[in-house]
Amino acid sequence: MSSDIVGDGPPFPVDPEVMGVLDRLWRVGHGAYLVGGGVRDALLGLPGSDWDVATDARPERILAVFPGSTYQNRFGTVRTPAAEITTFRRDHRYADHRRPDSVTFSEDIFEDLARRDLTINAIAWGRRGPGAAAQMVDPADGRRDLAQRLVRAVGDPGRRFDEDALRLLRAVRIAARLDFSIEPVTLQAMLAHAGDIGWVAEERIGSEVCRMLGGPTPSRAVRLLHQTGILATTLPELDSLPPTALERALEALDAVARLQPGHERLALAALFGTLQPAALSSLLARLRIGRHDIDAVVALVAAAARIYDPTWSDADVRRYMGRVPAELQDDLLVLRTARAGGEAEAELERQFQERIAGQRAAASPLRLSDLALDGRDLQVTLGIPEGPAIGIILGRLLDDVIEEPALNTHATLLRRAGRLLDESAPAVSGDDDVLHPPIR
Ligand code: ATP
Ligand code: MG
Repeated sequence: MSSDIVGDGPPFPVDPEVMGVLDRLWRVGHGAYLVGGGVRDALLGLPGSDWDVATDARPERILAVFPGSTYQNRFGTVRTPAAEITTFRRDHRYADHRRPDSVTFSEDIFEDLARRDLTINAIAWGRRGPGAAAQMVDPADGRRDLAQRLVRAVGDPGRRFDEDALRLLRAVRIAARLDFSIEPVTLQAMLAHAGDIGWVAEERIGSEVCRMLGGPTPSRAVRLLHQTGILATTLPELDSLPPTALERALEALDAVARLQPGHERLALAALFGTLQPAALSSLLARLRIGRHDIDAVVALVAAAARIYDPTWSDADVRRYMGRVPAELQDDLLVLRTARAGGEAEAELERQFQERIAGQRAAASPLRLSDLALDGRDLQVTLGIPEGPAIGIILGRLLDDVIEEPALNTHATLLRRAGRLLDESAPAVSGDDDVLHPPIR
């Protein structure tokens, strides 16, 4: 009866749609519980998370009870718009330290909670069936660990990490996000199993690392990885940095997270900002970051590494800006600010960014696309055939315009292009060498 729910509701706020899912399962005779991260976060008073429902109903039955829901066979989960519904199960034998070889459905919430990774993720609230009272089911005493802010494996930690090495990364991510400590026996087991990370698919490592970096103080996750020995097996490039370099990277990482929370590209650029382009690029590829983002991170890191010198002319400032694509300009400034450690450096950076802002306000030309003329103009108006000469001339014009923005008018550039052409007539026939390098 729905009146039961009102008087006998959960001890934390739950979306009405999610309550509707539970109610439906109870009414048709099943046991159903809220479990996992949703319960954990709600008990901590944290806002909105995904709700997981566990039930004794089998997947076919769930599909029948919720028309329009979809069965995600790989995970044994049925998705409705409000929640993910998973049949109680017990896992057995993990031959590859990653996925159970087989999963057996179960009728028992206790078995289902026993296979979960952390005590704080193994708390359930719900009913055994239509007539039963609503209750918290917390056999691993996850609520005590929530109160003491501890991440602790369910059961024997060594065995649980041995079964599934992904749990190592989950434990770090969740501890870091909640700012919990890792309980000592669990920590020991993590140290012992740090080498098992090799069993986890690189793609999964990549997505866990990115989720860690998306948290509020992401340095906590990296410190935990370091402390548990997992950094050495997942991100050896960072593990081998001198301590001061790692410390600076972590400061930049947290600063970026404060300035642009959840910005993956910037977090990666801050954390890996001391790596050389080739090492950086192969590390990011290993984490399965997309090609476009890899290029962006590599470009940002290279540009942010350049130290500003207050003797730079305005043209030097423009040249610097022109070297990064326009769409990365804002990210670059955030990254530079985040990397400026110490008051003197921060002050110098402020001065630099004021000069950059001045150039932006003046809409100074910085890139080929800013020129008041393009390759087609050169072809059509000056009759230069398609080929390298066009690019060379445009490059020369850009150099001139960066030096002196007032030159950036169509007529002036056309005139200068004509002159360049006369000076180096053979270039048009393909001999690029004849165009002289710009005079500095
Ligand atoms: P978040 O959604 O914030 O990442 P979560 O704990 O909800 O955290 P999910 O991946 O949504 O994580 O998983 C839901 C629940 O399933 C977990 O709370 C945990 O009880 C269980 N679980 C997930 N992955 C594992 C695993 N590898 N081993 C054991 N239990 C797991
Ligand atoms: Mg979840």
